[in-house]
Amino acid sequence: MQYRLKRYITYCCITLIACILPFIQINQNQIFLLSFDHKELHLLGLVFSMQELYVMPFLLIILFVGIFFITTLLGRFWCGWACPQTIFRVILRDLIEGKILKLNKISNKQKTQDLSTWSAKLKKLISFLIITVLCFCASAVLLFYFVPPSDFFTYLLDPKDHLVLLGFWIGIGAFFTFDIFFLKENFCIYVCPYSRVQSVLFDEDTQSVIYDERRGGALFDSHKERIPLPLKQRIPEAECIECQKCVKVCPTHIDIRAGMQLECINCLECVDACTSVMGKFQKPSLVQWSSPNAIRQNSKIKYWRTKTIGYSFVLTLSIFLAFFMGEKHDQILLNITRPTSLYTIHTDQSITNEYILLIENLNQKNQDFIISISHPDLEITRPKHKILIKGGQKRRTVLILKYKGKLQNPARDLSIPITIKISSTQNPSITTQRRTVFIYPKEQP
Ligand code: SF4
Ligand code: SF4
Repeated sequence: MQYRLKRYITYCCITLIACILPFIQINQNQIFLLSFDHKELHLLGLVFSMQELYVMPFLLIILFVGIFFITTLLGRFWCGWACPQTIFRVILRDLIEGKILKLNKISNKQKTQDLSTWSAKLKKLISFLIITVLCFCASAVLLFYFVPPSDFFTYLLDPKDHLVLLGFWIGIGAFFTFDIFFLKENFCIYVCPYSRVQSVLFDEDTQSVIYDERRGGALFDSHKERIPLPLKQRIPEAECIECQKCVKVCPTHIDIRAGMQLECINCLECVDACTSVMGKFQKPSLVQWSSPNAIRQNSKIKYWRTKTIGYSFVLTLSIFLAFFMGEKHDQILLNITRPTSLYTIHTDQSITNEYILLIENLNQKNQDFIISISHPDLEITRPKHKILIKGGQKRRTVLILKYKGKLQNPARDLSIPITIKISSTQNPSITTQRRTVFIYPKEQP
């Protein structure tokens, strides 16, 4: 099967998954949602408040080590097989303008489109309108990972109150359209930071698109300068018939026979092109998706080496730690602040302290909470009843503690350490506690 077909199947799967994922819920939570609106992260059915994002460092480590690992192992695999830029360029260039509107040929990407006739101009306008609609759909799908789809559509019905969301949707959609329709592969060559850093991650065993110079013959006298060799200097037994098919099909307009280049997005179109040419001579392709060492030694690609083993070890450890931290994640959060006055002395000489509690129910079910105090000489005068907090909501409440022990007349303020505990009456395992102090005043002058 041609790499092109395999890539198209992969693109369909990725697009389908990206569009469906925001609508799949586990425990009524999105599989992945980073909500700045509600200040929470949804991950595989768990909800993390922004205040307990201890799983975030591990996710970042997984992201970066994952990029290092994949790049060292498979080179620019992401660019050719999964990058939205490549997928949208294939949809526009090869599907809409190539197959449907017949403005260009998939097999020759070097030829500029002839837009001199009215029908060609109309076709170009149609392709622009189609890709604009698709880019705005893609912008919405991207935002579904930050705003739940149901909220997104509700907010759009009331745009005046949600100008930021509207601005992001239009801004991202417009940028996507500009990028896919006007910037084209120049984005990969001049803008994308990944293409700049990847070469430092490559080694001689990294899988990449390589022209087999030993069979095909050298066509350039210096890979750096890429100066073509004069015909008389080329070896007579060279297998490359110089049909240029691998060059014509390249979307970034490079000649892979001059060696690995930064512009190569690993689309493997040149491999397919040469496979069909060499197939007629019952020979394997001169351009292969292999590694420099495998081509040199005529062997298989060495996937497992010190670097890749090291990356996979760190990756496995980070995934394990992320799951471990996720399992330990709190069901309730409690913050305690004290007002400016340390204590109140009432007319009956009783002494009270006030605390402002901010309780966040991270569980998705409604819970009734009760507050308890560790100290035997203190009693709760407020609140007297259970506190109902809806699932995923927070509530502020005032706690007043009264000293009920034997009154003293100390020479200075006494600070009595206490622990305030809050627990769900429905599920006692949903509980948390915080340490604070009760201030008892010194003898009044
Ligand atoms: S397609 Fe193959 S034979 Fe033709 S120019 Fe390219 S490398 Fe040479
Ligand atoms: S050289 Fe061109 S056609 Fe070949 S993989 Fe790279 S970008 Fe694609």
